[in-house]
Amino acid sequence: MLVTDSKELLPLFIAGERRLGRGDEGATLYPATGEVVARLRAPSQADVEEAIAAADHAFRTSGWAQRKPHERAAVLHRVAALIRERAEPLAQRQRLDNGKPIPETRNLVASAAGTFQFFAAALETMEEAMTPSRGDFFTMSVFEPMGVVAAITPWNSPIASEAQKLAPALAAGNAVVIKPAEVTPLMALELAALCEEAGVPRGMVSVLPGRGSVIGDAITKHPLVKRVSFTGGTSTGKHIARIAADKMMPVSLELGGKSATMVLEDADLDHAVNGVLYGIFSSSGESCIAGSRLFVARKLYEGFLDKLATRAAALRVGDPADERTQMGPLITAKHRETIESFVALGRSEGGQLLTGGKRPEGALYDKGNYYLPTILAGLKNSDRICQEEIFGPVLVAMPFDDEEDLLRQANDSVYALAAGIWTRDYQKAWRIGRAVQAGTVWINTYKQFSISTPFGGWRDSGLGREKGRLGIQQYMEQKSLYWGLNTNPIAWAN
Ligand code: NAD
Repeated sequence: MLVTDSKELLPLFIAGERRLGRGDEGATLYPATGEVVARLRAPSQADVEEAIAAADHAFRTSGWAQRKPHERAAVLHRVAALIRERAEPLAQRQRLDNGKPIPETRNLVASAAGTFQFFAAALETMEEAMTPSRGDFFTMSVFEPMGVVAAITPWNSPIASEAQKLAPALAAGNAVVIKPAEVTPLMALELAALCEEAGVPRGMVSVLPGRGSVIGDAITKHPLVKRVSFTGGTSTGKHIARIAADKMMPVSLELGGKSATMVLEDADLDHAVNGVLYGIFSSSGESCIAGSRLFVARKLYEGFLDKLATRAAALRVGDPADERTQMGPLITAKHRETIESFVALGRSEGGQLLTGGKRPEGALYDKGNYYLPTILAGLKNSDRICQEEIFGPVLVAMPFDDEEDLLRQANDSVYALAAGIWTRDYQKAWRIGRAVQAGTVWINTYKQFSISTPFGGWRDSGLGREKGRLGIQQYMEQKSLYWGLNTNPIAWAN
């Protein structure tokens, strides 16, 4: 593990070296208490230049891209094994870095190990195609690494979202510059250390935590950066897409959401209540796929909301180190203020508070950024509170009359990341599952993931897909090869 004494400055990974950044000094704070977890100095513009130049050099000279797939895969398997070996300290560190309850950070660490393992396997079994030829030549479709690629990540699930980019990008043979969110730099630094220990050549992974508008922007604009894989807010994603258009650079954008959860008249209500609670309030709602808009069949509406509000009020909000905690604090005090202003907006739009809507009280909560699970009803889907992403533990609930009304409301959003359907009727599940516009649809479950299943959003929720067997090719350029077989010269020139 890296330095844990909060008085010492934490080294970054720049240009193949562990050294301090040369930018402003900052600290990562434990959201539950406000205590300093680690201090570090952000990278400077010169650090960005050096890291990218070194990554380009390592890409061209380290031989990583030329290693056979099974050789690179062996290193990725070692990274997975090291993550598993250090799972508990990593999970505890991530808890301190972003305040998620310990059972959740354990899951994120396990998912990061699984991601390296999956992409190692995908790499070893990745095929290139010999395509049907239409002449006296062989035709082949092959893939080449790109060079230096950048991974820009948010603060909500660091180790999992960073692994999701780092593993396929390295598998593809690229060098990777990671720009983690400024408030959660620790997991990217840990991953870089584990990659080095596992045998990824020096300089192939750099970690440049720092302000997005400065460091993220400089990385995105850099001519040697050949691809950006971004996860974060939609406005930042659009900004990156504009820069990418100027450079003709491929990007993948995993952006925001305002996902609809739909409870049909014939749903198993015990399952639905649990699923809705988990979908919005786990991770304190700080989840792109949070089921933040609830649509309930009008007949069930009042009874379902009564039950839901009672259960939400009983969720265990508290210390992220406590194994029984269901909701930890929010990431920062500022983010909590944003959520409070959203709830005030919802109420000014006519929203009726069914539960929550305030900070919890008591000594445990004094120093942390806690907020209670909150449900608002009595709103229209067109209200701002039902259209804008809150990224916190706030659910808006609305009734629907029939399938047509449900789909019209559910699809009326600029976002289209995920959706959930609760019904016992498989035909309705099929019809609605196909008609709802979203990158991922869960039927009688919510917020479940497999690394083998592609993930991404439509519309303002993003562009491109991560995960899945083709995840490695996202970090490669495709090339067509024609091998002439004719022994005679091309006749045209005679
Ligand atoms: P954000 O857009 O503010 O920041 C994300 C990352 O981008 C950070 O590392 C930040 O420093 C960097 N950044 C900011 N400005 C930049 C710029 N001009 N150029 C380059 N990089 C820049 O988002 P956030 O507040 O950290 O995260 C919350 C958002 O992320 C929410 O909208 C959430 O829905 C989204 N998110 C999406 C997914 C998904 O897979 N679709 C997953 C998690 C989070």
